[in-house]
Amino acid sequence: MMRAYYPSFLLSFPRPLHQVLKTTTTLPPHRPIVASYHTARTLYHNHTHTHHPPTLRNMSIPSTQTAAVVPSIGSAIEIRTSHPVKQPKDLAPGECLVKISHTGVCHTDLHAKQGDWPVKPMNPLIGGHEGVGEIVAIGENTASSPVKLGDRVGIKWLADSCLDCEFCRRGLEMNCPNCKLSGYTTDGTFSQYVVSFVHHVTPIPKGLDSAGAASILCAGVTTYKALKVSNTKAGNYVAIPGAGGGLGHLAVQYAVNMGLKVIAIDTGDAKRKLVEGLGASAWIDFKQTKDLVGDIKKASEGLGPHAAIVAAASGAAYTQAVQYLREGGTLVCVGMVDKSMEVTSFWAVYKSIRIQGSYVGNRQDAIEALDIAADGRVKVHFELKKLKDLKDVYEDLEAGKITGRVVLEV
Ligand SMILES: [Zn+2]
Ligand SMILES: [Zn+2]
Repeated sequence: MMRAYYPSFLLSFPRPLHQVLKTTTTLPPHRPIVASYHTARTLYHNHTHTHHPPTLRNMSIPSTQTAAVVPSIGSAIEIRTSHPVKQPKDLAPGECLVKISHTGVCHTDLHAKQGDWPVKPMNPLIGGHEGVGEIVAIGENTASSPVKLGDRVGIKWLADSCLDCEFCRRGLEMNCPNCKLSGYTTDGTFSQYVVSFVHHVTPIPKGLDSAGAASILCAGVTTYKALKVSNTKAGNYVAIPGAGGGLGHLAVQYAVNMGLKVIAIDTGDAKRKLVEGLGASAWIDFKQTKDLVGDIKKASEGLGPHAAIVAAASGAAYTQAVQYLREGGTLVCVGMVDKSMEVTSFWAVYKSIRIQGSYVGNRQDAIEALDIAADGRVKVHFELKKLKDLKDVYEDLEAGKITGRVVLEV
């Protein structure tokens, strides 16, 4: 999986002053909050006499924890055992504290560690944005929280957004100018406790185990959303370059679930076996074929697929997609290439090709992607490791040695 995110929407942090002022001035008056909060808390936890917000089963939150910290841009991560934990009394309204049990590792985490995008991540930084855990505390004065103490929730790349701007209203929460990104502009999930946000954590369905849910939160949501915007319907053909990779193998499964016929493109016997087992209707080995475009067309009634989901960070994958797509087809861009995308405008125009960018997913996309996984119709193929192994995982990522996903036990 060779994906990177386009950085332009990162340009707007930290939070502008008007946003801070807005948050402050929309809080209810001081006196009624205190009264209603104490009433509520007394009903809920009437055996406590402290002025601290409720925590799960009154559990005590440790003051320190184990966390994988990137001390400065480009430096090696350090596994620290005495990293501070934000205490429940210090949580702002809308914040929650999540005790992480599992977290996936994404290629984006490597970019965050290396700081090799034009907009730099915060430092020191805790990476990670595929976290699953339990809510153990919620900030005082949090109004209308959709989640409660003890809920098992997921933390995604999009950690928080304002919910009030045009983009949030239109379901483009990831494009919110005031969004927070897990493991990039706010600390992520490579630690035992993470501060997250009640309106953006995603409830994990009961039937789905935490290790299996982790990578749905980024890789799964991203590919599911890409298919949703691919302008296809049941019975259509979709080409998936990189089908045997971390994103690709999930894209194949979501596509099959949508009734699409999948043309899987990748290389090697292991990946062929994997994607054929997932229900792909055709397999094309890009290293073996002498005519990739011709073979893809042959596998789709001679006309080419109705859509291509390009998750690979490869200029050639984009160029070829315009060549093999059916007239009126949709090219969905997910993988980011370092230089410009090489698309011949002549053919894009002449074939009425639609070019559609797709960037992670919103809260609803995440819920839908998890529901499909909970029904057993999509499974992440992952290797389970420990948080302390993260250094080695990064090295393997850099060397391109990882097939499928790695999920860490925290
Ligand atoms: Zn990711
Ligand atoms: Zn917004």
